[in-house]
Amino acid sequence: MTNRIYPRLAIPETLAAGPGPGNTDERVLQAFAGAGVADHMQADVLRGMIECKHMLRQIWGTQNTYTFAVAGTGFSGLDVMFSAVMPGDKVVAFSNGTFSGIDALTLRIKAATQAELAEAPLNPDAASVTVIDVPHGESVTGNMVEAVLAEHSPKWAFMAHWETGSGRINDIRGFSDACERHGVLGLVDAVSSLGVENFSIDDYPGIVGWASCPQKGLCCLPLTYAPVSFRDAYIDSLNATGAYTYVHNPIFEARHWGIVDGADVEKGTYHRTHSGYAVAAFHESLRLTLQEGLSGRASSYSSHEAALREAVTAMGCEVTSNMTSLLVLNLPESLAGREMELVQNCRAAGFGIWPTLSEPIQIRIGILNQLRASAIQDIANRFADAMRALGTDIDQTAIDTILARHYAPAAAAQ
Ligand SMILES: *Cc1c(COP(=O)(O)O)cnc(C)c1O
Repeated sequence: MTNRIYPRLAIPETLAAGPGPGNTDERVLQAFAGAGVADHMQADVLRGMIECKHMLRQIWGTQNTYTFAVAGTGFSGLDVMFSAVMPGDKVVAFSNGTFSGIDALTLRIKAATQAELAEAPLNPDAASVTVIDVPHGESVTGNMVEAVLAEHSPKWAFMAHWETGSGRINDIRGFSDACERHGVLGLVDAVSSLGVENFSIDDYPGIVGWASCPQKGLCCLPLTYAPVSFRDAYIDSLNATGAYTYVHNPIFEARHWGIVDGADVEKGTYHRTHSGYAVAAFHESLRLTLQEGLSGRASSYSSHEAALREAVTAMGCEVTSNMTSLLVLNLPESLAGREMELVQNCRAAGFGIWPTLSEPIQIRIGILNQLRASAIQDIANRFADAMRALGTDIDQTAIDTILARHYAPAAAAQ
């Protein structure tokens, strides 16, 4: 083994135009870098956490007391949400892409008996868990959920709200209603939708647990917090069964955010060491979200997505997604099979688009926090150039005309 001190790590600025992370807002980075050294029980750090909790309730649209955030990434919040699922619990999980597939794996791990887990530790086949595989490119519908819950009567049901792997929006209205009708506790992965779509979780009473992430709709990558929210029915179940974790048990975790025994208290008590830098950055990202407003953001995403969708369609691509922060597309016939080559060329040039991570291979182009005409034009032009570099003919005037019409409707009409 050689001992070595490496040169200082330099990471370039790229155009993060994939499913996530999004471009972290400058204000968030300044809050992160501008925070002083303060410990996790210092008064302003604790006050910041309490204020985050209140802002999160507004952003989620909820009165749930158990609304707070989990240190880490999206999967950290999801792990907290899944902590109430116990070995042998009956679960139905809908999977229609990479992420809901991983969530379904987590559920199989949590609900497996000790023997089932020992049999296949990394991929247990838990008899109490039914995974419904919905084909890539399709959404989970209310009718599907209704039929499966009627047949299986599980304790828990799970679905992703926006499945980022395939770019599909799933029906949370139908999911919530079916959960309510069948007395099932619904759990939802809202990692991709929070901060992008305008929705209030209190409108979906059948869903008792929600988990999101810092780095997509909230534009807060510097490792910060994954928002979660739980209805009383979830907390009652957790109080009855306990969970096999200290750090990711929502009841313990909530204490540092000033939530004790189901009620808000004035200040948090120690659960683990939180970072003042992370709290300051997260706080700023929540302020930013509320200042822009969820409805304003949602309509901005939808109009920018429409512009980029029309531009790539004019390039001969076929878009199969319906999320407003992400396009998932097939290349024109002449480039079929060259998806990875195209993605790698783009990434090498600092244009960070992505392939799909599970079959079939498609291309994913995201617009998280790129809600400006100039940014969408830049993404469209870089993508067109990458297709040209592989030998495709692309009519630049057609793209320019489409984008001009989207961004200057008055001028184009003259
Ligand atoms: C991105 C994503 C995740 C994983 O989030 P991390 O921050 O990478 O842990 C989980 N679920 C969905 C739907 C996602 O889009």
